[in-house]
Amino acid sequence: MADIIVIGAGLNGLVAANYLAKAGKHVLVLERRALAGGQAVTESFGAGFQADVLHAGGQLRPDIVADLDLARHGLPESTSEPLISLHPDGRQLRLTADSDSETLASIGAFSKRDAERWPDFVAFMNAAAGFLDAAYRTPMPRLPHVKLAEGLPLARLAMKLRGLGARDMFRVIRALPMSALELTEEWFESDGVRAAIGAVAVHGATLGPMSAGAGFSLMHNWLNRGGPGHRRVENGIGGLANALVAALKARGGQLRVSAPVEAVLTDDQCARGVRLASGEDILAPIVISGADPRHTLLDLVGAPDLPPEFVWATQSIKMRGSVAKVHLLTDGAHALPSGTLVVAPTVRYVERAYDAAKYGRTSLEPYLEITANGPVVSIHFQFAPYALRGAEWSQERAVLERIAIDTASNALPQLKSSIREIKSLTPLDLEKTYGLTEGDLNHGQLLLDQMLFMRPMPGWSTHKTPIDNLYLCGAGVHGGGGISGAAGRNAAAAVLRGK
Ligand SMILES: Cc1cc2nc3c(=O)[nH]c(=O)nc-3n(C[C@H](O)[C@H](O)[C@H](O)COP(=O)(O)OP(=O)(O)OC[C@H]3O[C@@H](n4cnc5c(N)ncnc54)[C@H](O)[C@@H]3O)c2cc1C
Repeated sequence: MADIIVIGAGLNGLVAANYLAKAGKHVLVLERRALAGGQAVTESFGAGFQADVLHAGGQLRPDIVADLDLARHGLPESTSEPLISLHPDGRQLRLTADSDSETLASIGAFSKRDAERWPDFVAFMNAAAGFLDAAYRTPMPRLPHVKLAEGLPLARLAMKLRGLGARDMFRVIRALPMSALELTEEWFESDGVRAAIGAVAVHGATLGPMSAGAGFSLMHNWLNRGGPGHRRVENGIGGLANALVAALKARGGQLRVSAPVEAVLTDDQCARGVRLASGEDILAPIVISGADPRHTLLDLVGAPDLPPEFVWATQSIKMRGSVAKVHLLTDGAHALPSGTLVVAPTVRYVERAYDAAKYGRTSLEPYLEITANGPVVSIHFQFAPYALRGAEWSQERAVLERIAIDTASNALPQLKSSIREIKSLTPLDLEKTYGLTEGDLNHGQLLLDQMLFMRPMPGWSTHKTPIDNLYLCGAGVHGGGGISGAAGRNAAAAVLRGK
């Protein structure tokens, strides 16, 4: 019998499973799909049509890579890409975190003053991201009751913030609730530069660059990417999960794929195992779920077994996916420059793209992020709301594909004639195929009122639930969202502490 069952083989579930196996526990991971990796998978849509289906790139936190010795288990190399903002007049704005001469010359073509400020901005963003990283690894108390033992890590975090120096400390605190526009206005005069950074801020979030709190999501995305552009993973992002699975097996852990969990079994408000959709019961004294909190608590546990106010809080988690993907198999003559290409020419353009989502419509002029891997071109599309008003995704798919291809082709003229096949993923597909409630890729929006001691909900940021021995470890809990594995690391530590 396993000591611990982990529901879901996303990166966070696999990271948690590895830490627990390393601590000597017998761990069994159960994944509903036929392959591990969750949202970070490389899949084939047909001959020659292999893609990183959701993510263009990413990296696990360096401490996780080191703790779990993942290099020894085949963790692929990853390299930082520039972010290249494509403008309608053919100009390209290149942004990198290392402020190389090409980057500075590119920014200088938009504004000499902005080029001069760029290295300082990068230093500030790196400091802000470092602080956020420290906050994500600090166990959060169950406010309002802070025990002394919980207060000490918080005090250390406060020292870390203080260590940024008076100027940057205040800048970080001020920047968190700001809009991306307000934040970038303080640094840059060029609308093109502000818009490109605003696009990083709203990536994956149902926010516009003028929304309050986009300063925080900018820091979050900068932290997870390590700069403005993605980190491209050699041979595909699926290599991250493959390394985690290899490490887990080497530590004696087990993974069962095509094993959807239908229910968490409980006895007197205490987890005692799970029931698979096949009807098989698997018992274990501890269950950890890497699925999103709403699915875990309301579908797998069920409202009747939970306190009414907790059910209400779970129902109230803001999950509002508005991301779609359109993958194109081309003949190879797409002529894309390499990098994370974005269509986000002005702040107003990105804000208008977001406006559509507010009214339940697909953006007619979307913010796009375009990446190429050989002949396959992948388009990340915002905004395409999960909840359409007056339309269904079954008909809207064709609209999405047309807008994505037309918008990308306006910026990249050789793209359209090179297309041979199209495969799109709507927010509804993200829910049905990838198990993301409302297509929300972070298992809960990245909003200030859903972060740190309020993630997934106020009072429940310790990875515990009202069901004893049922813990949460996915992107929707403290340390998440995103691809970093931090939530899984934190949850494993909570389980081992027994708190
Ligand atoms: C288009 C897109 C772009 C993104 N871009 C970025 C980015 O640039 N940077 C970034 O940091 N993050 C990005 N993300 C978000 C990031 O991918 C996720 O936050 C992260 O991968 C979540 O990992 P996870 O392990 O917590 O959850 P998931 O990857 O969602 O894994 C959960 C796993 O649980 C399984 N599961 C669910 N229910 C059950 C059940 N009942 N029984 C068994 N198994 C179950 C699922 O199949 C899945 O494998 C992006 C996501 C998408 C979709």
